[in-house]
Amino acid sequence: METTCPRCGSDTVELGEKSLEIGLTRNEPVSIRLCGNCALVFYVHIEKISKF
Ligand SMILES: [Zn+2]
Repeated sequence: METTCPRCGSDTVELGEKSLEIGLTRNEPVSIRLCGNCALVFYVHIEKISKF
């Protein structure tokens, strides 16, 4: 999972997780992250690893 700031590339801290509604029926889990350098708040899609 990419956890560095997309704007300045600094380390970020996780504020929490939520479900983001995509369309009518889909909910994607995302991680809410805050950049400590430029204060950008952004979402990171939480990848679900499928196993056999
Ligand atoms: Zn930043």
